[in-house]
Amino acid sequence: MKLSETEKDLYRIAREKMVETQIKARGIKDERVLEAMLKVPRHLFVDEALRDQAYGDFPLPIGEGQTISQPYIVAVMTEALELKGNERVLEVGTGSGYQTAILAELAFWVYTIEKYSTLLEKAKKILLNLGYKNISFKLGDGSLGWKEVAPFDAIIVTAAAPQIPPPLIEQLIEGGRIVIPVGDVYSQVLIKGIKKGGKLYTETLEPVRFVKLVGAYGFKE
Ligand code: SAM
Repeated sequence: MKLSETEKDLYRIAREKMVETQIKARGIKDERVLEAMLKVPRHLFVDEALRDQAYGDFPLPIGEGQTISQPYIVAVMTEALELKGNERVLEVGTGSGYQTAILAELAFWVYTIEKYSTLLEKAKKILLNLGYKNISFKLGDGSLGWKEVAPFDAIIVTAAAPQIPPPLIEQLIEGGRIVIPVGDVYSQVLIKGIKKGGKLYTETLEPVRFVKLVGAYGFKE
């Protein structure tokens, strides 16, 4: 369905409100992250029936029992990656492709891995239609990383893991950042890690609740 100019304006206004009240108001300061969230049309990454809720302060279902993350959580995770524009970023859990678009706005190249082909294909179509040309897509278990194109300057995992998968730490460059929710299947904390001298130094950002990472270094099906 094509959107009329009036509809596009309404979504732009909703996006501005989202950034002011949910993102800036809660302390996100990185101007590039705020700009990207003002620009990316989040409503195009959810089913037509949910478009009017796309800028709400909550996650939404995207099929296969998965979700598009709450806008604020996308902002927190993205800011923690400290992207300047020249990075190669690995994203584990493409989902709707919304976070992928935000990363594609802020980094040089995004490598994204998704477990469900239905979600990957849908996200790919939307991202290509929007004109993104700096994204590589892969179907598979992202808990193993993407060895052929590693190492990465930054890694973001958008599903809950019982531990930080060791292959992801290996595939991070010296000085690289990883952001990942770690915990059990019901609740987790967002962990930010920085690799120094071959070792990962971590800090806890905030409590979160994500769907589970299912895979070799994730949870069982
Ligand atoms: N960032 C996404 C967005 O903006 O829509 C939200 C992702 S959703 C919370 C988590 C995604 O991780 C789901 O699409 C799920 O299928 C995917 N996933 C779970 N385990 C995975 C794995 N081992 N490898 C790749 N993707 C995985």
